[in-house]
Amino acid sequence: MDKISRNDKRIKKAIDIATKAHEGQLRKTGEPYIIHPLAVMEILKDWNMDEDSIVAGVLHDTVEDTDLTLKEIEDEFGKDVAFLVNGVTKLGKARSDMKNLDEYLPETSDNLLKLLIATGQDIRVLIIKLADRLHNLRTLGALPPAKQQKIARESLEVFAPLADRLQMGRVRVEIEETSFRYLNPRRYEELKSLTADRLKRADKKLKNAQHAVEELLKKECIHYDCDGRVKSIYSLHKKLAKYDQNIDRIYDLIALRFIVDDVTTCYLVLGLIHSLFVPMDGRIKDYIAMPKQNGYQSIHTTVITKDKQVVEFQIRTKEMHDYAERGLAATFFYNEQKLTSAYTEGRVSKLPSHLLWIKELQETATKLASGEKVDTKKLRLTLFADKIFVYTPKGDIIDLPKGSMPLDFAYRLHSEIGASCTGAIVNGKMVGLNTKLHSGDIVEIITARNAKPNPGWLDKVGSKHARHKLLSQLHALFPNFVANPDSRPSAKDTPNLAKSQQKKKTKK
Ligand code: MN
Repeated sequence: MDKISRNDKRIKKAIDIATKAHEGQLRKTGEPYIIHPLAVMEILKDWNMDEDSIVAGVLHDTVEDTDLTLKEIEDEFGKDVAFLVNGVTKLGKARSDMKNLDEYLPETSDNLLKLLIATGQDIRVLIIKLADRLHNLRTLGALPPAKQQKIARESLEVFAPLADRLQMGRVRVEIEETSFRYLNPRRYEELKSLTADRLKRADKKLKNAQHAVEELLKKECIHYDCDGRVKSIYSLHKKLAKYDQNIDRIYDLIALRFIVDDVTTCYLVLGLIHSLFVPMDGRIKDYIAMPKQNGYQSIHTTVITKDKQVVEFQIRTKEMHDYAERGLAATFFYNEQKLTSAYTEGRVSKLPSHLLWIKELQETATKLASGEKVDTKKLRLTLFADKIFVYTPKGDIIDLPKGSMPLDFAYRLHSEIGASCTGAIVNGKMVGLNTKLHSGDIVEIITARNAKPNPGWLDKVGSKHARHKLLSQLHALFPNFVANPDSRPSAKDTPNLAKSQQKKKTKK
């Protein structure tokens, strides 16, 4: 299974050197310190990282905490390992510098940005740091409560989004679950038993559904793997906040996952599932044709089974599954090469578009390292190219897809606010509903009780969320309403339409 070639002698030598260097040091748990770098090494091996990363993982705390110098590491293990160890060390320092900047730049995204800039020259630095943080989280119990809270909060705000950016879904979930358990133990336990209770009650119905699908797949000679996935406690906590704490509205609490050989089979399985059960309206998501911004691919569909159980099915290929779970680390595995250095050295000419931010990051980090002035605003835009952050008049931050307009904001707050919108004030000025919003805008929505949505609004929403809400409201208001394939309503539906089409013509 190990595709990446590793020189075990070199790793063993690193272990010897680190063991000597850390000799006599203890962790808060009372164990010899070397336990920690060795655990980090195991995590990196588990992620199928390359040999240099593993060696650097073993040595990652030596420069900071022992007499070993970077020069000695470079002489023994070469430039790359020294670079990685230095990066991880600097990252720790960058984090303490960051604290001082917190009052100026309070948002999480900026902390993440600073963290990324600090060491972004080689993405492996971040991956080693993630492994380091993961082990520290796993052993958080040994620390005093105040320190636990601090580390848990930082992990949730900085490292979980980082793992998400690197598409390491499995790691993100573990960071979120562990951090949340320390930050809000009561809520964690409450949701855990709620989930367990639901799971128990649905168990038989789920098994029936799984069985029915499996039988059909066997009949069709489709090779598959099936597992169940229970929604993580932290993401349930976040989702409940959006759904009035009503767990009955969470349809993906439990999902059945089918992993098949190729993309064509994914769609075949979707069809077979729909031939067995009734799919719920608007709950089919094709992330294979349209991957999520972080590269996630899968087909999701929510159905109602014969036992009246709501079940989400997720269908994907093995490669998509590995990618969702292991992200960039899986890329190392599949590519048998150091993606980023291969890229910077020109051996790989094209990164997938959802990974282009890594390139920007590396370029910016290189400029920073050489003392050049950089426009971090531009980098921030790249890192969050898909998003803008705007404010409510009360100062709450709302993130929206890029290209969003006031109606997107209104629908995000509440579909009723969207429906009764009559105007918008951006940064204190009245603006048209077709005004593009920008990060940092303060947006206020004017509503009127009798106001109603109209089809012309379809030109004035940029987010899928708002479009979806608006379309269902339009369908309810105008029973004959039909949205065109390009999502613009057709002329005979309503008088409003003529107007919106005329506008289009004059624009041309
Ligand atoms: Mn460490």
